[in-house]
Amino acid sequence: MVNRPVESVSLLAVSKTFPAEAVLDFARLGQTAFGENYLQEAEDKITQLADTPECPTLTWHFIGPVQSNKTKSIASLFAWVHSVDRLKIAQRLSSQRPAELAPLNILLQVNTSGEASKSGLNPAEVEEVASTVAKLPNLSLRGLMTIPNPDHREEDLQHEFLMCKSLMDKLNQTGLHLDTLSMGMSQDLETAIACGSTCVRVGTALFGKRDYSNR
Ligand SMILES: *Cc1c(COP(=O)(O)O)cnc(C)c1O
Repeated sequence: MVNRPVESVSLLAVSKTFPAEAVLDFARLGQTAFGENYLQEAEDKITQLADTPECPTLTWHFIGPVQSNKTKSIASLFAWVHSVDRLKIAQRLSSQRPAELAPLNILLQVNTSGEASKSGLNPAEVEEVASTVAKLPNLSLRGLMTIPNPDHREEDLQHEFLMCKSLMDKLNQTGLHLDTLSMGMSQDLETAIACGSTCVRVGTALFGKRDYSNR
């Protein structure tokens, strides 16, 4: 058990591969924040649900790898992007965010596992990128995100989550005002919450097992 107030951790429902109807079921229960990884799939769902009168207003988070040729659509469809791992992507999102929308909330994805193949900023480059991103117009830098190595055992998972948490604390000591630590998925959310997560991204535990053949 972890002694943290319930409201200090928010739930992002990861709806990738599930249809708009499944999102609507959760929306009717009061869940409003949904995460998607694939732009085309997300766009279809977002449009369909925006045109569904009985659907409450939803907040969409992009959590998948961001390709530069997709930034324009991402900047207009989403309220949050958790997976910014290069300055160039942040610059494109900043210049392409439509002026009539609120600033796009940004999390920098950090590679905490040390594997070269993983996406995310190297921990050593986070401070410099964060200070530049924080000054870009039309964006609001809100914090950090990590996807740890799924094969890691408890202590190594903790090590990765705590690295991300301490990086965010360090950034806040440099004068940034970051409040969001996006860590934890169905398999490791308890460890992530114990390590300071403020936002868990949960797919399987809510929607069931994904079937990628539908995509
Ligand atoms: C798919 C996905 C999730 C959800 O994972 P589950 O194990 O189904 O809870 C969370 N975060 C990211 C970045 C994902 O791609």
